Amino acid sequence: MVLFLEFTGTILKYTQNLVHQDNFMKADDLAFDRRHIWHPYSSMTRFLPSYSVISADGYKLTLSDGRSLVDGMSSWWAVIHGYNHPVINQAMQDQISRMSHVMFGGITHLPAVSLCRRLVSMTPPGLDCVFLADSGSVAVEVAIKMAFQYWQARGEPRYKLLALRHGYHGDTFGAMSVCDPDNSMHSLYKGYLPKHFFIQPPGRRFNDSWCEGDDKELVDFLALHHHRLAGMILEPIVQGAGGMRFYHPEYLRQARILCDHYDLLLIADEIATGFGRTGEWFACNHAGISPDILCIGKALTGGALTLSATLTGRHVANTISDSDAGCFMHGPTFMGNPLACAAANASLSLLEDESWRPRVAAISSELRAGLLPLIEHPRVYDVRVLGAIGVVETKDSVNIATLQKWFVDHGVWIRPFGKLIYLMPPYIISMKALRQIIEAIVDSLDVPVHFLL
Ligand SMILES: *Cc1c(COP(=O)(O)O)cnc(C)c1O
Repeated sequence: MVLFLEFTGTILKYTQNLVHQDNFMKADDLAFDRRHIWHPYSSMTRFLPSYSVISADGYKLTLSDGRSLVDGMSSWWAVIHGYNHPVINQAMQDQISRMSHVMFGGITHLPAVSLCRRLVSMTPPGLDCVFLADSGSVAVEVAIKMAFQYWQARGEPRYKLLALRHGYHGDTFGAMSVCDPDNSMHSLYKGYLPKHFFIQPPGRRFNDSWCEGDDKELVDFLALHHHRLAGMILEPIVQGAGGMRFYHPEYLRQARILCDHYDLLLIADEIATGFGRTGEWFACNHAGISPDILCIGKALTGGALTLSATLTGRHVANTISDSDAGCFMHGPTFMGNPLACAAANASLSLLEDESWRPRVAAISSELRAGLLPLIEHPRVYDVRVLGAIGVVETKDSVNIATLQKWFVDHGVWIRPFGKLIYLMPPYIISMKALRQIIEAIVDSLDVPVHFLL
């Protein structure tokens, strides 16, 4: 009997493996997912469907039921070269056969050195010291800790930052504390979160002409309160998850000038915007500025693995290092993970010939041609395009369940939130596929059940 049970157990395990070999999910797996697994910003009681993806290649996702979807999201800014990229895959396979991981304390390795060499050379000038971390939020935590340790080292501790409303910097506590204060995160944790200062982001849009005084709130705030601040944190040019808004590069230039004038650290969070997405290598390049501290993540590995980095100038790094603390107090277990570094090296090598530039430009003009006319649509509040980012802001919030299903039924993967239907497709998307996504968005606006009135 025992033997029999063991035997059937083995067979069961074997068949389960067979079934799972191709990532195919049964109804029972979806039921487990629904009952036991958190998804991003999800509820365990008010259920939103998840779609089972079994594979992804180029700009296409394949679902369990065999349907294939054109990807408009790059898995949240990350998969810029498309899925299953042979060069990134090969680099990872080569690295796996040497070592997937080794600790970074007291040890170094070529994948990390090559990556940091690349990052120092491709990021805006002056950012010479690299801290590798595991995710965007952690890169922001590291940036904030560096800013605080810097002021501590100067013998003048300062723990306040200036941030922009509608900003988004991640989900960990430090990062949350500089996100837009009026969204639910601040109200949920306000008894715990440190209090920073917030001003309105510039109203002047990317393509408008700058008018003197457009940065008045920033100028006035700093004149009064600069001595209370360690620095200013912002997403350069593109405010991402906090509203998908694009502002004028002159604001960034002025922020740089003012931070220099008042001796404040400027922290640029380019976790979403880095690596070509806005039409330049980094959004800071639109303004020709270098921040004192730069955070990158998301597309760093081409979306193959999680990895982020915080870069600083030599001055910040040396001030921290020469302090009484004697070092920078942070060291993640998986710091400099060689496999992630190998993926990042491959992804950056794919960017180096700058062939992304004409592709991003082509995506941009297709997005403009397809989306900008929607400004006339009665349901649409605003439409904006920058680089390979397209945003349709609706007047009413979307019904994510019905709209998502409709998009899937129309062969496209778009994940709207709030009043935002937005696109950041992989750079390798074909113009035909891009038009298919745009058409799906255009048609979706005419279906009343897609909106919460
Ligand atoms: C996504 C994002 C983060 C957080 O990155 P995670 O990898 O999700 O922790 C921080 N800042 C910006 C601007 C982002 O877009």
